[in-house]
Amino acid sequence: MKIPTKKFLVPRRAKVELKKWPTRIEDIYRSKGQYSKALKAQVKELVPLQRLLYASNRHALLLIFQAMDAAGKDGAIRHVFSGLDPQGCQVFSFKQPSAEELDHDFLWRTYRCLPERGRIGIFNRSHYEEVLVVRVHPELLLGQHLPEALLDEKAIWKDRYRSIRDMEAHLHRNGTKIVKFFLHQSRDEQRKRFLKRIKDPQKNWKFSAADMEKRKLWDDYRRAYEECLSHTSTKESPWYVIPADDKKNARLIISDILLETLSEMKMAYPRTTEKRRQEMNLIRKSLEK
Ligand code: ATP
Ligand code: MG
Repeated sequence: MKIPTKKFLVPRRAKVELKKWPTRIEDIYRSKGQYSKALKAQVKELVPLQRLLYASNRHALLLIFQAMDAAGKDGAIRHVFSGLDPQGCQVFSFKQPSAEELDHDFLWRTYRCLPERGRIGIFNRSHYEEVLVVRVHPELLLGQHLPEALLDEKAIWKDRYRSIRDMEAHLHRNGTKIVKFFLHQSRDEQRKRFLKRIKDPQKNWKFSAADMEKRKLWDDYRRAYEECLSHTSTKESPWYVIPADDKKNARLIISDILLETLSEMKMAYPRTTEKRRQEMNLIRKSLEK
C-alpha cells in the first residue's frame, strides 16, 4: 500500500493545532504478519541506499525524534533501523544536561553529536528540548546561567526558534539533510501505556513518577509543541507529525519517509578515474597470474 506521507508533513509557516492532526489512522497493514513483512521489505530497500550514502560520502542524514513519554520513540528507532549497517548509524539519546553542557550555549551539546558525512545520525530527543521541556519549566532556564538581560520571556523562545532554524539551514547548506518526527499520541493512549508499564514487572523500569508529573502538564506541553512545530518546520528541514497511537502504523510511516528522503538525495558511487582504472587493471593482471 502506498503511504500518503505528505499528509503528515508540517508545511513551512503552518499554524499547527495538534487536535487537527490525527493520533490514529486506518491501519496501513492487514495483519501482524503482513506488518512484519512490509517493514522488512522497506528495510531491505533502505540497505542499498544507506550503502550509497556511506560510499558517496557527500551527505549526512540527521533524523530527530521528539515526543511525550511512552509515545514509542525507542521502539520506532529499534525497529526501523534494525537491519541497517550499524557502522553507518549513530544514535544519541539526550537526557537532562550536565553541568558542563549547561555552561555552553544551548546548541552546543547536540552540535557535537551531528553525523559525519556518509552517516545517519539519530537523535532521541534533541536541541528541541530547549524549547519544549525548558519552556514548560522556565525554572530550568535559571540553571543555564544566562545573562539577566537575555531572560526576557517574550524574546527568548522566538530567539531560540531562530537559532535552531539558522543552525539547521547552515547544516543543509553543508550537506546534512534533516528530517524531524514528532510522534503524536493521544492522552488516553499514554494512560494505557503507563498502566502497562506499571502492571508488567518487566516494564516497570520504563516508568518513572516524573512521567506522571509531565502528564499533568499535558496542555502546556501540547502548546509548546504546537509553537515549536509552527516555527521550525522548513522546506529543507521539515517536521512530520506521525500518528503514534498505533506503533506499527507509526513505524511503517517513518520507514517510508526515510526511504523517500534517501531516494531523493542526489547520491552516486565515487567515479573511477581513467588513471585508477589502469592501475587496477595492472593489479588485476598480477593477481590473475
Ligand atoms: P522514555 O520515552 O523511554 O521515557 P525518555 O527520552 O523520556 O525515554 P528519560 O530518561 O525518561 O528518557 O528522560 C529524559 C528526560 O530528559 C526527559 O524528561 C527530557 O525532557 C529531559 N531532557 C532532555 N533534554 C533536556 C534539556 N535540554 N533540558 C532539560 N531536560 C531535558
Ligand atoms: Mg521518559
